[in-house]
This record gives sequence, structure tokens and C-alpha cells, in this order.
Amino acid sequence: VKRLVVKVGTSSLVYPTGGLNLRVIDQLAFALSTLCGQGKEVILVSSGAIGVGLNALRLKERPKEISEQQALASIGQSKLITMFNQRFAHYNQTIGQLLLTHDVFDFPASNQHVMDTFDRLLAKHVVPIVNENDSIAVDEMDHRTKFGDNDQLSAIVATHVDADLLIMLSDIEGFYDQNPLTHDDAQLIPTIHEINDDTYAVAGGRGSRYGTGGMVTKLTAAEIMLKDNRQMVLASGKDPAIILDILAGKPVGTWFTPE
Ligand code: ADP
Repeated sequence: VKRLVVKVGTSSLVYPTGGLNLRVIDQLAFALSTLCGQGKEVILVSSGAIGVGLNALRLKERPKEISEQQALASIGQSKLITMFNQRFAHYNQTIGQLLLTHDVFDFPASNQHVMDTFDRLLAKHVVPIVNENDSIAVDEMDHRTKFGDNDQLSAIVATHVDADLLIMLSDIEGFYDQNPLTHDDAQLIPTIHEINDDTYAVAGGRGSRYGTGGMVTKLTAAEIMLKDNRQMVLASGKDPAIILDILAGKPVGTWFTPE
């Protein structure tokens, strides 16, 4: 693996009470800086802006109005990137921030500019930290409540930059044959070659938004990767040093890999 994209979800970065999980951010910074030091090219896709914004204003619940959420994203994103900047600096690692909207990839000119930016940053051994630009992307909010988080964005980025691997860090160790929240005897599936309706059924069904958390959007991301003949691994973000284990070939998480 030479070029990889790591996606980390809100549930890994932000405590249920709303505070930033600095231990996780520090471990991410350590793991990704280590990989950069080994000559790998690493892109981080990070969620969490709205969660951090909520906490900054001591709000308990996510407001319903889009404009409120967009304001919170603006507050939270700046705090989040400040924290990443500080922690990566401990490891002498420079980062860059890229706030994207889906449509960036739809237009050849803007797509080319973004790709050039990625290439330049990676050539300078910088870690680009990507998030959706929630403060201006009106549609994306609806998108988000429907499809959830940055899962698809990370897969789109990974295919566009020709990444060898997408590492999806979540609040769960991998993909199970049943929802582990509701089934004690759920078994982790180590390898998946194909995603079909049965796979989605185990994740709560395509498009079910409340029942079973965000596994559906992770499968959609995996589908994008597989279709493009690329690999994705789903693993726990509790200890992001797991990224180093994954690249060392240790059997962790669920590998979505073409046959
Ligand atoms: P993140 O915030 O990291 O993006 P989510 O909480 O949105 O992650 O999605 C992960 C959740 O999906 C898990 O905690 C689990 O409750 C749920 N889930 C539903 N079906 C499955 C399954 N078959 N295997 C694993 N997790 C599942």
C-alpha cells in the first residue's frame, strides 16, 4: 500500500457528552505521521464538525434548522482542525485542510483543481485533512441525514486519488453477520468480496436511517471501492494505532476486497 485514505467518524472523535477525544486525535496523528515517515501518502477524511460545534455552544441536541447546523459546522470545523494541527505538530507532521462538496467532483475543471491540490500536498509529504464543507453545502445536509456522514465522500476521494486502500474507522470492530447491538451472538465477518441485498439486509436494509446506525453508508462506500477494484477495511477507531496493525497485515476488522 502506497497511497491510503483513512476515514474517521464522529463517534470516534467526539465523546457522547460532546467533548473532543484528544487521545484518539493524538493516536491518529501518531499513526498517520508514522506512515508518512515511511514514505506513504495519507489522506484523512474526518467528520465531527457539527458535534464539536454543539459542544462549543453547550447545546445538547442537534438543531433541526439547516442554517443552525451550518453555523455549528463553521464553529466546530475550526476547532477540529486546530486540534489536528496541534497534535500532528507534535510529530512534526504538516497538514492541509480541504473542505469539499460532492459537486466538486462533478465538474471536470473543479475536479482537476482538487486532484492537483491533493497531488501537490502529497508530494510535499503533507497530510490533507478532508471534510464536507457543511457550512455552505445546503443539499449535503439532507444528503447527510439520508445517507450519513462522510462515508461516501471518503470512497469518492479514494477512487479519485487512486488510493490502494480505504481504512474506515468506526465505533465497531468490523462488519457482523447481525447487528451486534441487538444480537449478542453476532459474528465478525473477516472478508467480503461482494455486496448484495443480503449484505444490506444485515446492516438494517438499504436506506433505513434510524434503526441501525450508519452501517448502510459504510457498505455503500465499500461498494464504490469494490466496483473500482479497490480495497476497504472497516475497523474500530477506539485506538487508531490499529491503522499500523492493518498495514502490517494483522487480521483485524472486515476486509472488503475484490476476488
Ligand atoms: P460512525 O459514527 O463511526 O460513522 P455509525 O455509528 O454511524 O459509525 O455506524 C456503526 C454502527 O452500525 C455500529 O455501532 C452498529 O451499531 C451498527 N450496525 C448495524 N448493523 C451492523 C452490522 N451488521 N455489523 C456491524 N455494525 C452494525
